[in-house]
Amino acid sequence: MAMRHKKLIIIGAGIAGYNAALRASSYGMDVALIEQYEIGGTCLNRGCIPTKTGIYIADEYRRLHESDKYGLYTRDVHIDCHRMSSYIEDTVRKLKSGVQSLLESSSVDVIHGRAELLREKRILIEGTDEIGYDNLIIATGSEPVIPDTPGIDFEEVYTTDRAFDERFLTPDDVLILGGGVIGVEFAGMYSLLGARVHIVEKQDRLLPDMDSKVSELVRHRLEEKNAHTYLGYAVSEIEREDGELIVHIRKESEDIELPVGQMLISVGRSPRQDFIGELKEDIRTENGRIITDNNHMTTADGVYAVGDVSDVRQLAYLAQKQAEDVVDYLATGRACPIYDILPRTIFFNPEMAVVGESEDSLREKGISYRMGKSLMSSNGRAVLEQSTDGYVKVILDKAGELIIGAELICPHASEIIEVIYQFIVHKIKVKDILQYPFPHPVMIETIRDAMALANRSSVR
Ligand SMILES: Cc1cc2nc3c(=O)[nH]c(=O)nc-3n(C[C@H](O)[C@H](O)[C@H](O)COP(=O)(O)OP(=O)(O)OC[C@H]3O[C@@H](n4cnc5c(N)ncnc54)[C@H](O)[C@@H]3O)c2cc1C
Repeated sequence: MAMRHKKLIIIGAGIAGYNAALRASSYGMDVALIEQYEIGGTCLNRGCIPTKTGIYIADEYRRLHESDKYGLYTRDVHIDCHRMSSYIEDTVRKLKSGVQSLLESSSVDVIHGRAELLREKRILIEGTDEIGYDNLIIATGSEPVIPDTPGIDFEEVYTTDRAFDERFLTPDDVLILGGGVIGVEFAGMYSLLGARVHIVEKQDRLLPDMDSKVSELVRHRLEEKNAHTYLGYAVSEIEREDGELIVHIRKESEDIELPVGQMLISVGRSPRQDFIGELKEDIRTENGRIITDNNHMTTADGVYAVGDVSDVRQLAYLAQKQAEDVVDYLATGRACPIYDILPRTIFFNPEMAVVGESEDSLREKGISYRMGKSLMSSNGRAVLEQSTDGYVKVILDKAGELIIGAELICPHASEIIEVIYQFIVHKIKVKDILQYPFPHPVMIETIRDAMALANRSSVR
């Protein structure tokens, strides 16, 4: 029997893979999508969606506790971790079935099984079946890095993959290893749910790749909520005594023992590459990440890599966009765009989002700028909703004409940032934005105010 053949094969049905497949189907391409586990990959099953659902619930819990301030008395507010966990599961299930029905109603051939690369543009599925391709998109994603620390395999030590398991959802106390965005989001969620949190980061600040003021603000907010930060520390050993973990953390010669019920590891994710098989010599990698050119092609002809497995920031929206861009490139020959600037979000209380240049980055580069900062406490909607803890900072070029960066610490920051992102990438002039009215009372008025302040401010 002749070997099956497809014009395009995609390995991995995470956010990159399934969006690439749907895009290819919309072009009428002959496409197959191979997935070994679940449709939806990390973002849908173990990443963005469950974390943001958990954070949403934790924030509602906080709001209910504070509602007596405006005359709403709620009795017996408490957490049922079984219901909470099933709500998170239901949310994932609903979204997953949406993706599944989109795939079913498209012409994508979904193949279940583990794929491995063979020579001559062939793929081995589940060690038996072979399929050939003209073009291949690798979208195999990533998995949590687990440090090689004594005691790391105790049951109470878990990665974000198991964090939404009912047993771990509402701890009395927890140590989070890693102070990047994901560690900080979990720290915020656990502390809103009433846990004592310890967050251990080996660098000298949380969120090391963000503006130092944002890092400091996050640390301050966490400390206020009973979450202790240990900066410059590493975990050296984990023991278990009387059903409790004793986590040893070390900074130079200083040792601290922290007794906790559970520990979450969040120290990064490594690309999944165990599929490379016979193309090991052909596909170049660096630090485990697949190297690609501007059109996301690897060093093997007709083989592309997108999302977490490739040499880019591990973000769901970037993975999706790259995947769609590769399919557009294959279908039309249009070169893939390069995303120099991307918005970044932190689902925290208050919510945070940044885009473009920060004051730190401009000072480092020696570039002059103008800056305007408007406080949420002067915004009508923020005051009426008691969400005055935060600000909007807008950074303009020296001439005060164009926005080059922004920092939002306010409700819905992760939604609003996209508007500023569009202003930046489309180079929309401040005077043109300010020419038109904004609705009232809305949070986004702080952007107008910050822009106007920046426009009038002196050059820094
Ligand atoms: C806790 C957490 C929270 C996050 N929150 C956010 C957020 O709020 N916003 C954001 O933008 N990003 C977030 N991320 C990052 C985001 O989840 C990832 O960047 C994104 O999911 C990567 O998508 P992907 O398609 O590249 O890979 P994945 O989603 O990992 O999908 C890869 C798929 O490939 C399959 N696969 C692997 N090898 C094979 C093989 N050999 N054969 C067949 N199938 C295979 C896997 O089973 C998997 O389904 C978060 C991540 C985590 C862990």
